[in-house]
Parts: sequence; structure tokens; C-alpha cells
Amino acid sequence: MTGLPEAWPVLGATTAVAGLVWLTSLGSTLTVLLLALARPSYAGWRGWAGGQIMLSLGMLVGTLRTPDAQLWAVLLGNTLLLGGTALVLNAFQRFAGEPVRSSAVQLMAVPLIAVALYMLTSVFPSLPARMVLVWADLGLISGPLLSLLFRHWRRGGPLRFAYGLNLAMLVLGALGSLPRMVLLRRPPDLAVAFALSAPNLLMYAGVLVFSVGGTLAFWLLHDDRRRQEVQRLHAELSELTRRDPLTQLHNRRGLTEAFADLRSGGAARPAALALLDIDHFKQLNDRLGHLTGDHCLQQLGGLLQASTRPSDVVCRTGGDEFVVLLSGATTAQAQAVIDRLRRLLGASLSSLPAYTISAGLTEVQPQDTLDSAMQRADAALYAVKRQGRNAVQVAEPDAVPGWAGAFVRP
Ligand code: GH3
Ligand code: MG
Repeated sequence: MTGLPEAWPVLGATTAVAGLVWLTSLGSTLTVLLLALARPSYAGWRGWAGGQIMLSLGMLVGTLRTPDAQLWAVLLGNTLLLGGTALVLNAFQRFAGEPVRSSAVQLMAVPLIAVALYMLTSVFPSLPARMVLVWADLGLISGPLLSLLFRHWRRGGPLRFAYGLNLAMLVLGALGSLPRMVLLRRPPDLAVAFALSAPNLLMYAGVLVFSVGGTLAFWLLHDDRRRQEVQRLHAELSELTRRDPLTQLHNRRGLTEAFADLRSGGAARPAALALLDIDHFKQLNDRLGHLTGDHCLQQLGGLLQASTRPSDVVCRTGGDEFVVLLSGATTAQAQAVIDRLRRLLGASLSSLPAYTISAGLTEVQPQDTLDSAMQRADAALYAVKRQGRNAVQVAEPDAVPGWAGAFVRP
């Protein structure tokens, strides 16, 4: 066996490399652990940080295995490795919202494995039995872990890249440490154990890839998930700001955007705008209660949507007032739609009280803004209300607003 004096120059160089690897991997994983403890985040985030540091430490302790340090290196190294992998599996399961039973069992089994390893190292030493135990348990834990990462990578979506990166870091880390593990079937002498040989350097590279690359990969997964959630919330919120909560129809903001879209689609495209208002809705509310009134508003919203095309925009602009923007329609076609709706309301077999509507219609002119089109429709609606309600009137296309909302021909 090579003695320590001859091995010393090699050990000096190795100490420098090993020291750097220890410092970098423990430094990065410890930082993440402290961050995880200080900042609560997604489920599994803290468990992952704990598992990551155990795994890195387990791999590093494995590098200290010499004949003298056999027992504690085997015991501590393997326990940290198996416990860390189980913890990381548990963390990924929780992070992904999957059942954690398998990893919980694995975690509980770690102390038993440690006792068995102690027995197989010092009481009834058996290298084959020890290796079978460690590899079987490692396979049982890393199988589900790799499968989870692989499934999520294959599923695609915004987290695909980050799951793939986590998988790659785990596989590369394991592959890097494999030649050294094979070399350590039996405790080698000091020079072999600490030589700057390919298996040892690969092992150090594996530890670095796993600890630093793995940390970066998990952080990326975390960050991508947060970004995905923020984007989803943003989309939901902006959808909410365009919807009327009672009828789920567009509100005034949604109408403004739809009108702008119509304009950007070509000013020459014909369109009609209808303004509808329930007749004597206050009395209906007073007589039958606000809840019944709400149901009437919902019913009218549903009927309006059912009587128009998906490309038409149906809005509740406030109170008992609805607007329908019919793109590609003439006022005659829009009138036919409103008349059909009024017939439907008249023939309604629902338990709701009967009510009528009045409507003002206008053709949307190329030079129109939403306000100018609405003002003409409003004037027509006002005229219907004045004349006794329950009717439809088409506004003069060249009418312009006069004082106090009345409309005059120029
Ligand atoms: P008109 O025929 O002139 O339209 O008479 P009206 O009573 O319908 O008068 P108007 O359209 O001005 O009144 C709208 C009423 O709608 C006033 C208010 O009581 C009622 N309203 C507004 N928002 C809601 C709501 O969200 N739910 C219910 N149930 N009623 C509402
Ligand atoms: Mg009304």
C-alpha cells in the first residue's frame, strides 16, 4: 500500500480541488437552505433545500472513504445520500401536487437502512450485501424521482424546460459519480482514493453539477412556475375587468375594446349598434324584489347571447341597459335580431315575470367613435321610451347630438 509520505504531493493537489468542490457545493446549497428557511414559498421548497444539502454532503462524504474511515464514511455517506434523495423526491412530489406516500415510506425507512448498513459494515461485514442494500434502496427512490421529472418534462407547457433541466442535472450528477462508486467497491488506498484520476475528477464534477447546477435548475423551476402563475392571474384579472359579474357579459370596458377591434378591422366594414333597456324595471324590482330583478337581467343577457352570433359583442353597460354590437350587420338585420328577442321574451315560459324591452338602433358610420354611435342609439331609445316603450327605433344615420341629449338633423 502506498504510504502517506509518497502520496502527499497528490494529496496536496487533491486537497485543493476537493476543498474547492466542498466549498462551492456546500456554499451554494447552504445559501439555498437558508433562503428556503427564511422565505416560505411553494410546498416542498424547504424539503428540497434540505434534501439537496444532504445529497451533496452524502456524495462529498463518499469521497473521504479510505480504509481507516470506512465505517463512518459508509454509514454517514450512504445515509445522507439515501435520506437526501428521499427528501428531494418528497419535495418534488409536493411541489408538483402529487401523492407523497412513496417518499414518506422511503424517508421512514432511512434509519432502518442505516442500522442495517452498520451491521453489514462492522458486525457481519459483507460488501455484496451492503451494496445490494444501498443500490436497491437508491433505485427504489430515484426511480420515482426520475419518472416524475420525466413525466413533467414530457407533459410540456411552460415548466417543460425547467423540469428537463432538473432531470439533466440529476442524471449528469449521478453519471459523474458512477465510475468512482465502482472504483470504491472496496476501500482503496490513500493514493487511489485521492488521486487526481479521471474517476475522482468526474466525481467532483458530478458533485458540482448536482449541487450548483441542480440548485440553479430548481430555482428556475420555481421562477418559471411563479411567472406562469402571475401570467395566468394577470389574464384572469384583465378578463374580470372586462366582464359584468352578474351576467358574465362584457361590461363597458369590454365594449370599448370590442369597438376598437372593430375599427382596426377596417372602417368600411358595416356594423350596427343596438341599445336595449328594460321597461319599468324599477317597478319590477319594487314589486318582486331585487333578486327576481337580477334573474331577469341574467335571463335577458342569456337570451341576447343566444340570439346573436359569436362574433357579435353583447354587453351589459349598467343597470338594466344592454348594448349589442353586430359586426357585418345592417340596421335591418339588427332590427330582425331584436324583434326575435322581443318575441322570445313575450313567449318566455320561465317562472320569471313577463317584461318588455325598448331598443334604439344605429348604423356604425366609418367616422364614428363608440360615444357618437351610442349617443345616436340612445336618442332613438329615448324616443321609444317617450312614445310608450316596448318597441324598436332606428336612429337617423346623419343625426348629430343636440342639447340635453336630444338629436336633430343637421
Ligand atoms: P324605463 O322604462 O324608463 O327604463 O324605467 P325603469 O324603471 O326601467 O328605469 P331605469 O331604466 O332608469 O331604471 C333602471 C333600474 O334598474 C334602476 C335600478 O333599480 C335597477 N337596477 C340597476 N342595477 C340593477 C341590478 O344589478 N339588479 C337589479 N335587480 N336591479 C338593478
Ligand atoms: Mg329601464
